[in-house]
Amino acid sequence: MREVAVDKAIYLVDDSNRTYSFLRRNPNWSKLSPSQNTKNKQSLNGYIRHLRGGGTKVFKLSKNLYRCPECGLHYENEEIAKQCEAWCSEHKSCNLEITRFSVEAASDQGLSQ
Ligand SMILES: [Zn+2]
Repeated sequence: MREVAVDKAIYLVDDSNRTYSFLRRNPNWSKLSPSQNTKNKQSLNGYIRHLRGGGTKVFKLSKNLYRCPECGLHYENEEIAKQCEAWCSEHKSCNLEITRFSVEAASDQGLSQ
């Protein structure tokens, strides 16, 4: 069993049968880096969540995401991911006008879940 933080929650994950359930709220969610958050989500992909009501739900990453290899942010749009990569590799910093389209920026605003 391992504990995995995703967004504002911590889940208890059982890798032996690929299931997980809500454990507690994550009080340190603001310290969770977007890339780690995404990694944690990816590690739950296809896992079955046991809901409190007794039901189950399969965790699926919503879409195929494109990752900027420079800064590690993810985008649903390949074109924007390429713009991000071009900017990041040239300027060695992120362009907020681009990164606000990232999945991580969206989840920081509490739009995920
Ligand atoms: Zn980038």
